[in-house]
Amino acid sequence: MHSTLPAELEEFRQSCRRTAEKHFRPLIDKMDRDHEFPHEARPVLAELGAYGLPYPSELGGGDGSWLAWAILHEEVARVLPALGIHFQVNTVVAGALQDAGTDEQIQRWVPPLLRGEVTGFFGFTEPDTGSDPENLKTRATRTDDGWRINGHKRWITNATHADVGVVFAKDPDDDVSLFLVPTEGPQVHAESPTEMLGLGGTGLADLHLDDVEIPADHLLGSTGGQFKTLKRAMTTGKLGLSAMSVGIMQASLEEAVRYARHREQRGHPIIDFQAIHHLLAEMVSQLEASRQMLYWGARCKDEKGSDTIPEIASTKLFVTQTAVEVARMAVSVHGVYGISKETPVERMFRDAKMYELLEGTSEVQRELVMRAIDEIK
Ligand SMILES: Cc1cc2nc3c(=O)[nH]c(=O)nc-3n(C[C@H](O)[C@H](O)[C@H](O)COP(=O)(O)OP(=O)(O)OC[C@H]3O[C@@H](n4cnc5c(N)ncnc54)[C@H](O)[C@@H]3O)c2cc1C
Repeated sequence: MHSTLPAELEEFRQSCRRTAEKHFRPLIDKMDRDHEFPHEARPVLAELGAYGLPYPSELGGGDGSWLAWAILHEEVARVLPALGIHFQVNTVVAGALQDAGTDEQIQRWVPPLLRGEVTGFFGFTEPDTGSDPENLKTRATRTDDGWRINGHKRWITNATHADVGVVFAKDPDDDVSLFLVPTEGPQVHAESPTEMLGLGGTGLADLHLDDVEIPADHLLGSTGGQFKTLKRAMTTGKLGLSAMSVGIMQASLEEAVRYARHREQRGHPIIDFQAIHHLLAEMVSQLEASRQMLYWGARCKDEKGSDTIPEIASTKLFVTQTAVEVARMAVSVHGVYGISKETPVERMFRDAKMYELLEGTSEVQRELVMRAIDEIK
């Protein structure tokens, strides 16, 4: 399909694709089958600029655009979607720090995250909630020289190997405050990794915070009002998930075409059958519509920063749902081979469903999109 992107971005895509093919394709089984996080990918990701591309170089970023970051995500996920969520979390944590922290906190903690020197975690979800700040049970109490945090965070990406993270907790005023929490010491401990339908090897686990003592300067900004930071930081997360969903669709289409050309029935490659044409044509259209919406969402973020909650929510709503449908069609093209562990589309279908659910389900995205409707007079 013809690309309307500037030539330099298409060249950037090709270079990301070459890197992903060379360094990340050999890691698929390690993540998906053995559920191990591939630490060897970290320097390659750092070299690509994956952790901080859209941030200024003074903060450890790559002076790039969110559009370029989306393309990078797309190309990593075309090969290995589970790896994308690892580096995306660093960018989200850095964004939350930038949103809530003081200049001094930003200068101190953002650069190592954006350079990939440390791995971050993002601690919002708990056993009782994945979207409602009122239900947070993690508590922050004051000590003589700082804060003590107690709580249980659920389904935290990078939990098994993160160095530092941001934790949303109820403060003494019962409001939501945000804290920087290093993981060293026995007071922060990750359970064994949680096994899910897809995205294996991301170090997803529950994190327990038992009497974690942190100094006063680990409170980000001032107390209270930090649910807004969650929603703003999530514009980065949702953009990343949308980009990875486009990558999954591209890979699903490539696999479906390859299979349809080689699989023969009644003396013909199955690509000769009209029913297969319909599936493939539908996949092409849905992929291209999703890709254009992703690029629009990324351009909105380039122009408006994190004040893009309805735009990015509508992008995530459409693109992640469409990816499940496109991956499902790729499975259909493969017949029963499509649900066999022998074929890559089986993993793509599982990973696509994961992205539809996390960082806010489609139902929650619809609620966020309603803000745009409220503006219609
Ligand atoms: C692989 C993976 C990685 C994750 N990584 C992280 C991470 O790093 N950090 C982190 O904090 N969390 C993480 N999560 C958690 C994830 O973001 C939440 O699970 C997700 O937001 C949904 O929350 P929930 O499952 O608690 O659903 P709930 O909020 O309990 O929702 C349950 C159901 O109710 C619906 N619902 C809820 N609220 C509304 C509403 N207002 N309007 C309409 N319907 C509603 C939902 O759509 C859903 O169908 C991860 C999850 C997964 C699977």
